[in-house]
Amino acid sequence: MLQFLSMSESELLKVKADLEDRYNQFKAQGLKLNMARGKPATDQLNLSMKMLDTLNSGSDMHSSTGDDCRNYGLPDGLPELRELFAELMGVDDNNIIVGGNSSLNMMFDAVSCAMTHGFAGCEPWGKQGHIKFLCPSPGYDRHFAITEYFGFELIAVPMLATGPDMDVVEKLIHDDASVKGIWCVPKYSNPTGITYSDETVRRFAALKPAAKDFRIFWDNAYCVHDLTDTPDTLLNLWQECRKNNTIDLPIFFASTSKITFPGAGIAAMGASEKNLSVLREHYSFQTIGPDKLNQLRHIYFLKDLDGVMDHMTKHRALLEPKFRTVLGRLESELGGKGVAEWTSPNGGYFVSVDVLNGCAKRVVSLCKEAGVTLTGAGATYPYGKDPNDQNIRVAPTYPPVAELEQAMELFCICVQLAAAEKLLN
Ligand code: PLP
Repeated sequence: MLQFLSMSESELLKVKADLEDRYNQFKAQGLKLNMARGKPATDQLNLSMKMLDTLNSGSDMHSSTGDDCRNYGLPDGLPELRELFAELMGVDDNNIIVGGNSSLNMMFDAVSCAMTHGFAGCEPWGKQGHIKFLCPSPGYDRHFAITEYFGFELIAVPMLATGPDMDVVEKLIHDDASVKGIWCVPKYSNPTGITYSDETVRRFAALKPAAKDFRIFWDNAYCVHDLTDTPDTLLNLWQECRKNNTIDLPIFFASTSKITFPGAGIAAMGASEKNLSVLREHYSFQTIGPDKLNQLRHIYFLKDLDGVMDHMTKHRALLEPKFRTVLGRLESELGGKGVAEWTSPNGGYFVSVDVLNGCAKRVVSLCKEAGVTLTGAGATYPYGKDPNDQNIRVAPTYPPVAELEQAMELFCICVQLAAAEKLLN
């Protein structure tokens, strides 16, 4: 296999001409495929349809505490669901609030609460002047967008195979009290798919921020989303923080969006008593209680942790072939050519591809022109600006395998075409 970088100009011109032929053939097909967002496919949604049968006019509408779930009450959610989320998130059940349909919503609420009312008895973030938030990158665009919306300066922190570069994190938060938080997707990270190493988690638990109101936003969105027989394991931050006397540092989030139904699932948040007292007060003004009928539906359907894990094996059966297709195509088309590097995650929803510096935007626009929509280049960085114009998030879950085959063939052609154009320039 010839490396692009070691090709002569005439060899590159020949390769480019062949690639253009293949590209134009694709264009002529008038494809209309979408690999932009990490959505479950229809067959995955169908796995949870029976959940809708668990609740009807003949069902028991009471929680384990005897509360009537049709009425107001239980602002922290059903106790049985708090127990389930406690297991999923590795946090004590007394420290869990089970909320509405979206964990992103709860993250927004937590930031909003800190902006107006503050954590740890400090001035509200919104009254402290210029404030900053750390954004491990590549990362999740909607996280970054929340803190951009509230006016934070977003600071990119490099993502390594072990998680965020902790040397950088420690330095930034140790020296600067205007740094108020960090976004983390610790397991099967969006988009790189890596899981934070034990050492990274220990270093998070041992952080000594200059700001007393610095918080770690620990979004465990993919905590049970394994795709292989060798799943990653994540050290428990809650327990590590207990050991380090830093229990007020993290706020934990998770949801069933990618277990049952995105948009109609259940979200939860976990935190120390001190943090929860601020957050509970905030919620007490915001709502008289969550949708407990949907909570009941979830508990009737999923039952317990074993039920969740059983259900996740069904997702895995549908997703594994898709990830195999994407990774197989990348390897067969791009392997050994020196034009891209990619991750091979053990779970989660994404594959992260780094193309040659300065080529990501070109690849995305070439794909778009030929009918395949990808996540916008740059989206995985704060302000949507990838300083190296290099990273592309590939989302294999939504299209059927046959479409993925086509989309990935085109993607690989575009990666090479953009690389050839760059090298010939
Ligand atoms: N967190 C991460 C890391 C995600 O990738 C997503 C969706 O893609 C979400 C949160 C959204 O979660 P929810 O549907 O619970 O708001």
